[in-house]
Amino acid sequence: MSDLVIAAPPTVTLPVAGGGRFPVRRIFCVGRNYAAHAREMGHDPDREAPFYFLKPAYAVVTDGADTPYPPATKDLHHEMELVVAIGRGGKDIAEADALSHVWGYCAGLDLTRRDLQNEAKKMGRPWDMGKGFDHSAPMGALVPAAGVNPGKGKIELKVNGEVRQSSDLAMLIWSVPEVIANLSRLVTLEPGDLIMTGTPEGVAAVKPGDLLEGMVEGVGTVRTRIV
Ligand code: MN
Repeated sequence: MSDLVIAAPPTVTLPVAGGGRFPVRRIFCVGRNYAAHAREMGHDPDREAPFYFLKPAYAVVTDGADTPYPPATKDLHHEMELVVAIGRGGKDIAEADALSHVWGYCAGLDLTRRDLQNEAKKMGRPWDMGKGFDHSAPMGALVPAAGVNPGKGKIELKVNGEVRQSSDLAMLIWSVPEVIANLSRLVTLEPGDLIMTGTPEGVAAVKPGDLLEGMVEGVGTVRTRIV
């Protein structure tokens, strides 16, 4: 018998390549983690400590489902990213141990209401409504960490078959082990947490009807149509 006063919300899950589902707890996102993207956003990239924002687990769009064009924006941008799935939690994780906390990886999109984010930046306000809206995190299937090198590999996004973003994981300012170690000093990481590791240059607007197809070499793909 449950004493919950409304029905418990469903558990959000990501598909795993080859079968099974991975339950999602939180989604941490790293800002400005590729130098060329930092520059295109008007910032001077450097090795200042990484910074983070979050999306709710309920923002995930999976299994190739369509993504509804969100309300309250005229400038919805794609950001193609490598997503890290934490399988074993911890705090104050050492960089050298960081990858042992990773269950797997997938390709994902950090969809952004750029106009709302820009207004928030200008006003010194939080980014939540620019970043954490409904359906803002389309993701592909997870692959287990064994055999994946998150330090190298092509990352690419095509919109309607045309390459919009193309880079390499080697261009990350903060590597995956560095991000895990740093983030675990700010919060205790838990199994089910996802980390979106930042986007390379080439971000741009999408519109209803556009087909987004992203890939991370050695990891997988993400595919969604904006409707
Ligand atoms: Mn991003």
